[in-house]
Amino acid sequence: MTENHNIFLQHAAPHIAALTPYVPGKPVSELERELGISESIKLASNENPLGCGERARQAYSGAAAELGRYPDGGGFALRAAIAEHHGVDALQVTIGNGSNDVLDLVARTFLHPGKASVFSQYAFAVYPIATQAVGATARIAPAKDYGHDLEALASLIGADTGVVWIANPNNPTGTWLAAQALRDFLAALPAHCICVVDEAYFEYVDEPDYPDASRWLADFPNLIVTRTFAKVHGLAALRVGYGLSHPDVAELMNRVRHPFNVNAPAQACAIAALGDREHVARSVAHNREEMARVTRGLERLGLRWIPSVGNFVSVDLGRPAAAVDQALLRAGVICRQVGNYGMPSHLRITIGLADENERLLDALAQVLAA
Ligand SMILES: *Cc1c(COP(=O)(O)O)cnc(C)c1O
Repeated sequence: MTENHNIFLQHAAPHIAALTPYVPGKPVSELERELGISESIKLASNENPLGCGERARQAYSGAAAELGRYPDGGGFALRAAIAEHHGVDALQVTIGNGSNDVLDLVARTFLHPGKASVFSQYAFAVYPIATQAVGATARIAPAKDYGHDLEALASLIGADTGVVWIANPNNPTGTWLAAQALRDFLAALPAHCICVVDEAYFEYVDEPDYPDASRWLADFPNLIVTRTFAKVHGLAALRVGYGLSHPDVAELMNRVRHPFNVNAPAQACAIAALGDREHVARSVAHNREEMARVTRGLERLGLRWIPSVGNFVSVDLGRPAAAVDQALLRAGVICRQVGNYGMPSHLRITIGLADENERLLDALAQVLAA
């Protein structure tokens, strides 16, 4: 860890003092300010390059009339829309300021010092942070071919395990778990252990054996499924996501949820986005085409990548990715290093618009040839 000169470090809770914060993708404005360049592109945060749909845009304009009012703290209309979408009861829905907020609620509700959470090597970086932020211990199962190894995860679960985190598909690897294997894992899980199935990229996955874990809520009271409006729905700026669970699990998480954690424009836009199946279909089709373009380009460059079912791909550059990333930044292309995940030679690329992807491939070719 880098040296830290924070004068209050010794007064912080020990688990906070030891915490390494999440590193978000660099905003375009910050890069341009730093390098004195313009017209850079960001392929670093798995956003939808098409943005949100027209219906969400209109809902946002409509919400402008009510900015002086607090939002509906219970999220009545949004929770009803989500419940209908999934065929569950509204009492099973917990809304969050992004699904990241829901992951935090899970940790605050079910973890504390003396308890452990379990997740895979290369799993989404928020799981260790959420765990450590509440003073719990993280146990990490070795990955198999960069994906979650369910047997290895199961072997780490004991009497003190409060939560097991599963990203399906996982970020930054794009790997996924099939229905039967995941269902068997849930069936074997002890009742005291909550299982989070994080489905942030659910809509992008086009695999016959890929499960919708929200269908299993009635079978597993310890299951929490999370979804987000930040990815395929193109509402990353608004911060809105949700968890689906047993009503008693939701009731506990609601105790610690900030009453107005999801703002009013976010609630309005999320409802509109849920009803906009065309925008989702268009975005998924775009991603499929452009993923093919990007991987064809990587192949031409003689590179290997981890096969991904999401809207991003992690490519093995066969050399330290940090230097390549820096060179790409100077060319105005922002990707994501994943050295913090223990993948120092990989670069994660979000699938962008066609011309953005072409520009990325051109820049990468030049940087690698230099
Ligand atoms: C992006 C992402 C999320 C959450 O994003 P929010 O913007 O907080 O909804 C959750 N899990 C994974 C695996 C992600 O990649």
